[in-house]
Amino acid sequence: MSEMLHPGQTIGILGGGQLGRMLAMAAARLGFHTHIYEPGAAPAGEVAGTTTTASYEDTAALEAFARSVDVVTYEFENVPAAALDQIEALVPFRPNRRALAVSQDRLTEKTFLQEIGLQVAPFAPVDAGEPDAAARLAQALAEVGVPAILKTRRLGYDGKGQARIMETHDAQAALDAMAGAEAILEGFVDFEREISVIAARGMDDRIACFEPGENVHKDGILHTTTVPAAIDGETRARAFGIAGTILAALDYVGVLGVELFQTSDGLIVNEIAPRVHNSGHWTEAGAVIDQFEQHIRAVAGWPLVDPVRHSDVVMTNLIGHDLDGVPAIANETGARLHLYGKAEARAGRKMGHVTRVTGPAGDR
Ligand code: AMP
Repeated sequence: MSEMLHPGQTIGILGGGQLGRMLAMAAARLGFHTHIYEPGAAPAGEVAGTTTTASYEDTAALEAFARSVDVVTYEFENVPAAALDQIEALVPFRPNRRALAVSQDRLTEKTFLQEIGLQVAPFAPVDAGEPDAAARLAQALAEVGVPAILKTRRLGYDGKGQARIMETHDAQAALDAMAGAEAILEGFVDFEREISVIAARGMDDRIACFEPGENVHKDGILHTTTVPAAIDGETRARAFGIAGTILAALDYVGVLGVELFQTSDGLIVNEIAPRVHNSGHWTEAGAVIDQFEQHIRAVAGWPLVDPVRHSDVVMTNLIGHDLDGVPAIANETGARLHLYGKAEARAGRKMGHVTRVTGPAGDR
């Protein structure tokens, strides 16, 4: 592995939120320096060697950043293409641009997943800014069926930019909620459970998957991830196969999160995140390596670790004023607390998480 970065070299991270913060801590454990690039407030800045606070349009700052690091990775998918062009011309960028492009747009993502032979919910594009949007939505509803969900193609997260259409007469309100954005209509999947696979691919093409976790959402935001998921061996193998297919098709290097719906017709891919993922936070308390260190290893050209799970765990997100529960959690045995150092506990804001070890790794 001639391309292995050595301790003392610097990993650049685009985005300074909690994911960047956890990546920076993992990088530090392997002896790397980190340099965060973030236009706004950066919880990651507190644990990184260097932080640049500048916009993604600041070409001088981008150039100085790119020249100061040995590889660039990201925790934030919506970095403008021009900034990425500039960075990529100067320094290796991992995971690659294709992974970002595919996952930035729900329509491109669904089309890609279908093209590589994976099952997705039925979908149809609806441009809410077009004068005939209402007619187009009616046609899409006829194709996809009701109930359905209308989602903005770009920039949606934690259930934002989504509107459910339970009956046809909800259509206009859903369209209004898109505020003129390009959108995609998705058929509503009647799932038994939501699971996710956190998977990694190294520079040597090796793929390593963490145990699938079972996710429960509350108000559109991930609430808990329980590991292992209550799935049989066949479903687990299929979930790993899906993750591997995606990683190989994208020639991906790094960690990727794959969200899946388990249905009576098998596994349906909901979405992919080309980065470390909230549903993989459990790994820091339940496996021999966590997703952050695995990602740093991959982008630094190091061999991946076999991500064996040693414990059964439940990860719970601490959102907004859930933070008030910290003194009680601090007293719990077997609870690994992780706080992001954010100053203000606004409603809906991810402030931290707690992973409770429920026992040694058992059978599924
Ligand atoms: P997303 O932002 O696409 O991950 O959606 C957030 C959550 O909304 C998912 O985790 C599901 O719980 C739910 N959801 C999204 N899309 C669908 C769908 N097509 N059918 C049923 N539930 C969905």
